[in-house]
Amino acid sequence: SIFKFLTGDNIEAAYYEEIFRMAVTDGLTQVANKRQLDEYLDKELARARRHNRSLALLMIDLDHFKQVNDVHGHLTGDYVLRSIASLLRLRVRREELFARYGGEEFVVVLPETDRAQAMEFAETIRELVLNHKIEFEGQQIKVTISVGVAELDRDKHKIPDDLIKAADRNLYQAKNRGRNCVHG
Ligand code: GH3
Ligand code: MG
Ligand code: MG
Repeated sequence: SIFKFLTGDNIEAAYYEEIFRMAVTDGLTQVANKRQLDEYLDKELARARRHNRSLALLMIDLDHFKQVNDVHGHLTGDYVLRSIASLLRLRVRREELFARYGGEEFVVVLPETDRAQAMEFAETIRELVLNHKIEFEGQQIKVTISVGVAELDRDKHKIPDDLIKAADRNLYQAKNRGRNCVHG
Protein backbone atom coordinates (compact mmCIF):
# COMPACT_ATOMS: atom_id res chain seq x y z
CA SER A 1 0.00 0.00 0.00
CA ILE A 2 2.92 2.34 -0.68
CA PHE A 3 0.77 4.17 -3.17
CA LYS A 4 -1.41 5.55 -0.40
CA PHE A 5 1.49 7.74 0.66
CA LEU A 6 2.10 9.33 -2.69
CA THR A 7 1.93 13.08 -2.46
CA GLY A 8 0.93 15.57 -5.10
CA ASP A 9 -1.81 15.04 -7.61
CA ASN A 10 -4.81 13.25 -6.08
CA ILE A 11 -5.91 11.79 -9.37
CA GLU A 12 -2.50 10.31 -9.87
CA ALA A 13 -2.65 8.76 -6.40
CA ALA A 14 -6.14 7.39 -6.98
CA TYR A 15 -4.94 5.89 -10.24
CA TYR A 16 -2.13 4.04 -8.54
CA GLU A 17 -4.41 2.93 -5.75
CA GLU A 18 -6.72 1.37 -8.30
CA ILE A 19 -3.80 -0.33 -10.02
CA PHE A 20 -2.72 -1.68 -6.65
CA ARG A 21 -6.24 -2.87 -5.83
CA MET A 22 -6.47 -4.70 -9.13
CA ALA A 23 -3.12 -6.35 -8.59
CA VAL A 24 -4.26 -7.99 -5.35
CA THR A 25 -7.89 -8.75 -6.32
CA ASP A 26 -9.28 -11.72 -8.21
CA GLY A 27 -10.99 -10.48 -11.36
CA LEU A 28 -13.91 -12.89 -11.35
CA THR A 29 -14.96 -12.82 -7.69
CA GLN A 30 -13.46 -9.52 -6.51
CA VAL A 31 -12.04 -11.16 -3.40
CA ALA A 32 -8.33 -11.26 -2.50
CA ASN A 33 -6.16 -13.15 -4.99
CA LYS A 34 -3.28 -15.54 -4.38
CA ARG A 35 -0.74 -12.71 -4.38
CA GLN A 36 -2.56 -10.97 -1.52
CA LEU A 37 -2.92 -14.27 0.30
CA ASP A 38 0.82 -14.96 0.07
CA GLU A 39 1.70 -11.53 1.40
CA TYR A 40 -0.87 -11.69 4.21
CA LEU A 41 0.12 -15.22 5.23
CA ASP A 42 3.80 -14.30 5.37
CA LYS A 43 3.05 -11.46 7.77
CA GLU A 44 0.57 -13.37 9.92
CA LEU A 45 2.82 -16.39 10.21
CA ALA A 46 5.70 -14.24 11.39
CA ARG A 47 3.40 -12.45 13.83
CA ALA A 48 1.96 -15.69 15.23
CA ARG A 49 5.45 -17.08 15.74
CA ARG A 50 6.82 -13.93 17.34
CA HIS A 51 3.96 -13.54 19.81
CA ASN A 52 3.28 -17.24 20.23
CA ARG A 53 -0.30 -16.87 18.99
CA SER A 54 -2.44 -19.44 17.26
CA LEU A 55 -3.26 -19.23 13.56
CA ALA A 56 -5.55 -21.39 11.46
CA LEU A 57 -6.08 -21.87 7.74
CA LEU A 58 -9.04 -23.32 5.87
CA MET A 59 -8.76 -24.76 2.38
CA ILE A 60 -12.18 -24.80 0.72
CA ASP A 61 -13.00 -26.67 -2.48
CA LEU A 62 -16.33 -26.81 -4.29
CA ASP A 63 -17.58 -30.38 -4.68
CA HIS A 64 -18.06 -31.84 -8.15
CA PHE A 65 -17.70 -28.42 -9.68
CA LYS A 66 -16.77 -29.84 -13.05
CA GLN A 67 -20.32 -31.23 -13.19
CA VAL A 68 -21.77 -27.75 -12.64
CA ASN A 69 -19.91 -26.58 -15.73
CA ASP A 70 -20.80 -29.69 -17.70
CA VAL A 71 -24.50 -29.59 -16.84
CA HIS A 72 -25.19 -25.84 -16.69
CA GLY A 73 -22.37 -24.34 -18.73
CA HIS A 74 -19.22 -22.40 -17.93
CA LEU A 75 -20.99 -19.04 -17.53
CA THR A 76 -23.24 -20.53 -14.87
CA GLY A 77 -20.12 -21.97 -13.25
CA ASP A 78 -18.62 -18.48 -13.13
CA TYR A 79 -21.82 -17.13 -11.57
CA VAL A 80 -21.74 -19.88 -8.93
CA LEU A 81 -18.15 -18.99 -8.04
CA ARG A 82 -19.08 -15.32 -7.64
CA SER A 83 -22.14 -16.21 -5.58
CA ILE A 84 -20.23 -18.47 -3.18
CA ALA A 85 -17.41 -15.93 -2.86
CA SER A 86 -19.90 -13.16 -1.96
CA LEU A 87 -21.63 -15.40 0.54
CA LEU A 88 -18.44 -16.41 2.33
CA ARG A 89 -16.62 -13.10 2.32
CA LEU A 90 -19.36 -11.65 4.54
CA ARG A 91 -18.50 -14.23 7.20
CA VAL A 92 -14.87 -13.24 7.37
CA ARG A 93 -13.82 -10.44 9.71
CA ARG A 94 -11.71 -7.47 8.73
CA GLU A 95 -8.61 -8.81 10.48
CA GLU A 96 -8.98 -12.18 8.74
CA LEU A 97 -8.53 -12.96 5.05
CA PHE A 98 -10.71 -14.65 2.48
CA ALA A 99 -9.00 -15.34 -0.83
CA ARG A 100 -9.50 -17.21 -4.07
CA TYR A 101 -6.64 -19.68 -4.13
CA GLY A 102 -7.28 -20.87 -7.67
CA GLY A 103 -10.04 -22.36 -9.86
CA GLU A 104 -12.82 -23.41 -7.46
CA GLU A 105 -10.67 -23.24 -4.34
CA PHE A 106 -10.76 -20.63 -1.62
CA VAL A 107 -8.71 -20.05 1.51
CA VAL A 108 -9.60 -18.44 4.82
CA VAL A 109 -6.82 -17.34 7.19
CA LEU A 110 -7.87 -16.93 10.81
CA PRO A 111 -5.37 -15.26 13.13
CA GLU A 112 -5.76 -15.84 16.88
CA THR A 113 -7.76 -18.97 16.14
CA ASP A 114 -7.05 -22.51 17.28
CA ARG A 115 -8.03 -25.76 15.61
CA ALA A 116 -11.30 -26.23 17.54
CA GLN A 117 -12.49 -22.72 16.73
CA ALA A 118 -11.47 -23.10 13.10
CA MET A 119 -13.34 -26.41 12.85
CA GLU A 120 -16.45 -24.72 14.22
CA PHE A 121 -16.13 -21.91 11.70
CA ALA A 122 -15.58 -24.38 8.86
CA GLU A 123 -18.71 -26.28 9.87
CA THR A 124 -20.70 -23.03 9.90
CA ILE A 125 -19.71 -22.12 6.36
CA ARG A 126 -20.21 -25.67 5.12
CA GLU A 127 -23.84 -25.48 6.30
CA LEU A 128 -24.21 -21.99 4.91
CA VAL A 129 -23.23 -23.16 1.42
CA LEU A 130 -25.39 -26.28 1.73
CA ASN A 131 -28.45 -24.11 2.40
CA HIS A 132 -27.56 -21.46 -0.18
CA LYS A 133 -29.81 -21.55 -3.20
CA ILE A 134 -28.38 -20.17 -6.41
CA GLU A 135 -30.55 -19.19 -9.31
CA PHE A 136 -29.11 -18.26 -12.68
CA GLU A 137 -31.10 -17.79 -15.88
CA GLY A 138 -34.01 -19.78 -14.51
CA GLN A 139 -31.84 -22.67 -13.39
CA GLN A 140 -31.56 -23.75 -9.74
CA ILE A 141 -28.08 -24.78 -8.75
CA LYS A 142 -27.02 -26.30 -5.45
CA VAL A 143 -23.40 -26.79 -4.48
CA THR A 144 -21.54 -28.09 -1.46
CA ILE A 145 -18.02 -27.55 -0.19
CA SER A 146 -15.37 -29.68 1.43
CA VAL A 147 -13.04 -28.00 3.89
CA GLY A 148 -9.57 -28.90 5.15
CA VAL A 149 -8.56 -27.22 8.39
CA ALA A 150 -5.03 -26.76 9.73
CA GLU A 151 -3.66 -25.00 12.77
CA LEU A 152 -0.16 -23.59 12.73
CA ASP A 153 2.33 -25.97 14.28
CA ARG A 154 5.46 -24.00 15.12
CA ASP A 155 7.73 -27.03 14.80
CA LYS A 156 6.31 -28.47 11.60
CA HIS A 157 5.30 -25.40 9.65
CA LYS A 158 8.36 -23.34 8.80
CA ILE A 159 7.05 -21.55 5.74
CA PRO A 160 3.49 -20.55 4.69
CA ASP A 161 3.40 -23.37 2.16
CA ASP A 162 3.75 -25.92 4.97
CA LEU A 163 0.52 -24.70 6.55
CA ILE A 164 -1.26 -24.64 3.18
CA LYS A 165 -0.11 -28.19 2.48
CA ALA A 166 -1.42 -29.36 5.86
CA ALA A 167 -4.84 -27.87 5.11
CA ASP A 168 -4.73 -29.38 1.63
CA ARG A 169 -4.05 -32.85 3.03
CA ASN A 170 -7.08 -32.50 5.30
CA LEU A 171 -9.16 -31.29 2.37
CA TYR A 172 -8.18 -34.47 0.57
CA GLN A 173 -9.43 -36.45 3.58
CA ALA A 174 -12.71 -34.54 3.55
CA LYS A 175 -13.15 -35.42 -0.13
CA ASN A 176 -12.42 -39.06 0.60
CA ARG A 177 -14.98 -39.12 3.36
CA GLY A 178 -17.67 -38.32 0.83
CA ARG A 179 -17.48 -34.51 0.37
CA ASN A 180 -19.74 -31.85 1.94
CA CYS A 181 -17.72 -32.22 5.12
CA VAL A 182 -14.94 -30.73 7.21
CA HIS A 183 -11.69 -32.43 8.19
CA GLY A 184 -8.95 -31.12 10.44
P1 GH3 B 1 -14.09 -32.52 -6.49
O1 GH3 B 1 -15.35 -32.72 -5.71
O2 GH3 B 1 -13.17 -33.67 -6.40
O3 GH3 B 1 -13.40 -31.26 -6.12
O4 GH3 B 1 -14.53 -32.43 -8.03
P2 GH3 B 1 -14.41 -31.20 -9.01
O5 GH3 B 1 -15.19 -31.52 -10.21
O6 GH3 B 1 -14.78 -29.94 -8.30
O7 GH3 B 1 -12.85 -31.16 -9.24
P3 GH3 B 1 -11.96 -30.89 -10.50
O8 GH3 B 1 -10.67 -30.34 -9.98
O9 GH3 B 1 -11.90 -32.12 -11.35
O10 GH3 B 1 -12.70 -29.77 -11.32
C1 GH3 B 1 -12.61 -28.45 -11.01
C2 GH3 B 1 -13.38 -27.74 -12.04
O11 GH3 B 1 -13.47 -26.35 -11.78
C3 GH3 B 1 -12.81 -27.89 -13.43
C4 GH3 B 1 -12.71 -26.50 -13.97
O12 GH3 B 1 -13.23 -26.41 -15.25
C5 GH3 B 1 -13.57 -25.69 -13.00
N1 GH3 B 1 -13.14 -24.31 -12.88
C6 GH3 B 1 -11.96 -23.86 -12.41
N2 GH3 B 1 -11.91 -22.52 -12.48
C7 GH3 B 1 -13.09 -22.11 -13.02
C8 GH3 B 1 -13.64 -20.82 -13.36
O13 GH3 B 1 -13.02 -19.77 -13.16
N3 GH3 B 1 -14.89 -20.82 -13.90
C9 GH3 B 1 -15.60 -21.97 -14.11
N4 GH3 B 1 -16.81 -21.87 -14.64
N5 GH3 B 1 -15.10 -23.16 -13.82
C10 GH3 B 1 -13.87 -23.24 -13.28
MG1 MG C 1 -10.19 -28.21 -6.87
MG1 MG D 1 -13.70 -29.30 -6.60
